[in-house]
Amino acid sequence: MERNLGLVWHPFTQALGAPPPLPIVRGEGAYLYSATGEPYLDAISSWWVNLHGHAHPYIAEKIAAQARTLEHVIFAGYTHPQAILLAERLLALFSSQYSHVFYSDNGSTAVEVALKMALQAQGNEKKLLSFQGSYFGDTFGAMAASGRSHYNRPFWPYLFPVHSIVPPTPAREEESWRAFETALSTGEIGIFIFEPIIQGSGGMRPHCGKWLSKMIQKCQESGIITIADEVLTGFGRTGPLFASNTLTALPDIICLAKGLTGGFLPLGATLTRRFIFESFLSPDPTRSTFLHGHSYTANPLACAAANASLDLLLQPSCEKARQMIESEHLQFQKQWRFSPQLTRCDVVGTILALEYRIEHPSYHHPLKQRLIEFFHSKGILLRPIGNVLYLIPPYCITSDELKKIYAAIITTLEERI
Ligand SMILES: *Cc1c(COP(=O)(O)O)cnc(C)c1O
Repeated sequence: MERNLGLVWHPFTQALGAPPPLPIVRGEGAYLYSATGEPYLDAISSWWVNLHGHAHPYIAEKIAAQARTLEHVIFAGYTHPQAILLAERLLALFSSQYSHVFYSDNGSTAVEVALKMALQAQGNEKKLLSFQGSYFGDTFGAMAASGRSHYNRPFWPYLFPVHSIVPPTPAREEESWRAFETALSTGEIGIFIFEPIIQGSGGMRPHCGKWLSKMIQKCQESGIITIADEVLTGFGRTGPLFASNTLTALPDIICLAKGLTGGFLPLGATLTRRFIFESFLSPDPTRSTFLHGHSYTANPLACAAANASLDLLLQPSCEKARQMIESEHLQFQKQWRFSPQLTRCDVVGTILALEYRIEHPSYHHPLKQRLIEFFHSKGILLRPIGNVLYLIPPYCITSDELKKIYAAIITTLEERI
């Protein structure tokens, strides 16, 4: 542990005064095991990436086999079977409404790729439209699109301007629609980017898919390119395979990452509709080639993990598992949504979000650390966003394990942790 302290800089962590990070040496199913052998129930899928449990033997085996066959190959001028298979399967999951897959390294890069494609396809100096409270990642384009928040404050002077409106959250749908129409009436908007159905890092806040669909449709009538960031919502988190499946209008671009590989390896994928791909076709390569690529584009190990994860995801038992999680969450919600300790209790598929009633909520509110430590003492890994506690469990979690987490949550409500 002392070796870690002096050497490693951790994400989203103020090193001064931070408790030392817990060394984890092994994972199995929904559990992580510390160096001293204690189990921790991973109720947030290790930052929302894990789908089927830790160190899942089926995915591990497929990665190992791929590593012995082809670990990596340059993806400009070359391709490989895992990347082709994965592209076919991803496009098929969207009923072939998208024509091409562009691979990258993670969620932020999947968004950067989408933004660069959309900006270049528009070919004019139009502005982005996004919802307040959005989060699209930590690279510069993703930060700029996210709008201004505590996540990116030091960089505000360097971020390109974005038109930011209220999302259609419950009771604010019409206000959101009016702000949307006002934004469009400026004639400045060329791209609309959003997290469909639920905003993740902004505090696990659901919004109305019906109004969002209306906005997407209006954008399409107005020549505005729409980008759905499904980095969090993809691969069953909200119930159906993708949150976009619940929309009545089809976004032009879809960004995927996080659960794409089942939580084994970093990989991003940006799916586009044919008209965007075709807008880059030109006999003159200096004019409209898409000049973007990463060294590890379409890494074969990551693609093999993604194909293996899809095998598991598409089994009927996985859908049943997700339904079980949702119905357990709904049971909890029914009993506790009106607790005076809470201002909100939302369920969206496998996601449960509770907002604790506190004065002056903020990302760094001391309640966050108190909750982390309390759940830790119960052998549960949870990490609230400020005063918003949420569960995004791996789909292999059992109803008894969920009940153990709810019991711990109920203690925090009854004893005002
Ligand atoms: C986490 C997240 C990202 C960024 O993904 P990284 O892999 O962390 O770069 C982008 N969009 C959404 C909606 C996310 O939840």
